[in-house]
Amino acid sequence: MGIFQEAQQYIVGGVNSPVRAFKSVGGEPPFIERGEGAYIWDIEGNKYLDYIQSWGPLIFGHCDKDTQEAIIKAVKKGVSFGAPTKVEVELAKEVLELFPHLDLIRFVNSGTEATMSAIRLARGYTSKDDIIKFVGCYHGHSDSLLVSAGSGAATFGVPSSPGVPADFTKHTLLAEYNNIESVKAAFEKGDVGCVIIEPIAGNMSLVPAKKEFLEELRELCNHYGAVLILDEVMSGFRASLRGSFDIYGVEADIVTFGKVIGGGMPVGAFAGRKEIMEKLSPVGPVYQAGTLSGNPVAMSAGLAVIKKLKENPEIYKELEKKAKALMEGFEKTSKENGIDFTYNVVGSMFGFFFNPKKPENFADVDSSDTQRYAKFHNKMLNKGFYFAPSAYETGFICTPMSDSDIQNTIKAYEEIAKEI
Ligand code: PMP
Repeated sequence: MGIFQEAQQYIVGGVNSPVRAFKSVGGEPPFIERGEGAYIWDIEGNKYLDYIQSWGPLIFGHCDKDTQEAIIKAVKKGVSFGAPTKVEVELAKEVLELFPHLDLIRFVNSGTEATMSAIRLARGYTSKDDIIKFVGCYHGHSDSLLVSAGSGAATFGVPSSPGVPADFTKHTLLAEYNNIESVKAAFEKGDVGCVIIEPIAGNMSLVPAKKEFLEELRELCNHYGAVLILDEVMSGFRASLRGSFDIYGVEADIVTFGKVIGGGMPVGAFAGRKEIMEKLSPVGPVYQAGTLSGNPVAMSAGLAVIKKLKENPEIYKELEKKAKALMEGFEKTSKENGIDFTYNVVGSMFGFFFNPKKPENFADVDSSDTQRYAKFHNKMLNKGFYFAPSAYETGFICTPMSDSDIQNTIKAYEEIAKEI
């Protein structure tokens, strides 16, 4: 019996997060033994160039020495105290220093927790229950946000999940990404306390918001007295050092973080204006807590990564150059083979579509050829290139990825393009 079959006897679907089961692309997922730099090895010894990098966190690749050393040092002092530690303060300072409009932060253990808590806080602050989210944006699996979500849920064609009472989602209004009229309509429909959006959507492959759209969204939130939450769990420290803030300059009331901020350890965070954040317990009445929140090992990993990024801000340009080279190579090969292909690149993130149109919203993304993506995925995996097992995910470049890694990937695509 293979490990995947054995896994399914003990773990639901053999995996602890659905997209890992390869349902939308078919085939069996390799079980990973170890990683180093840009590469991972499965338990059978196969080597892959890793364009997932733990779904974003590992911007310096696997087993980055500085991150590793920080983790080991922390572990030697004790893995958890459930009490305040100095490293939490250090990481908070390093993060907040980057964002003049964010005054206070709270660390949690996942992106789901960050967005769920940010929404509770926004509702508590405004005393308004309705929220607006965008079709195709994914903010984790909390009840009120699992409505027409992207990522795993869209992959499986499930607009919302059984087990979520309609009563819980009736306060969630949906709008179309990059369509300000749909936001206005939603605002008029409800008593909206907050809007949550991925400013650089990474859960319908990669679709960045248009600048004017985000700016108008900010204005609408001001007009209606709603809290604007920019969900930068994926794009924070990935699209750029300061995520979307560097690109659009739009100031959110609350920003959620995850992935890179924990250096590969389970960390999320939300940060915001003082007036809002001080509504949170223990200062204010909005309850939020976590036994392992601010865990010293996780904070140490995050601190090592954030410090290194701040010391080397030029990496984003280099990563973007590599992402562009990869996408341009794929585009050229696609054209030569009569394959419809468009792409987006933002910093170290890339997304491509087997689609003649560059998508601006989820409906556009959904019109891409996902069967072709499945073939692409299987054939590239066989050649040792590990891309996301779903057409609705973003790809990531890490610093150890070399130009020849990129060229080899393009060459491999040239070899399989005729077969997809
Ligand atoms: N927000 C965004 C933008 C995400 O991409 C994700 C996860 N991919 C989440 C929230 C949820 O984070 P987690 O999986 O850590 O709960």
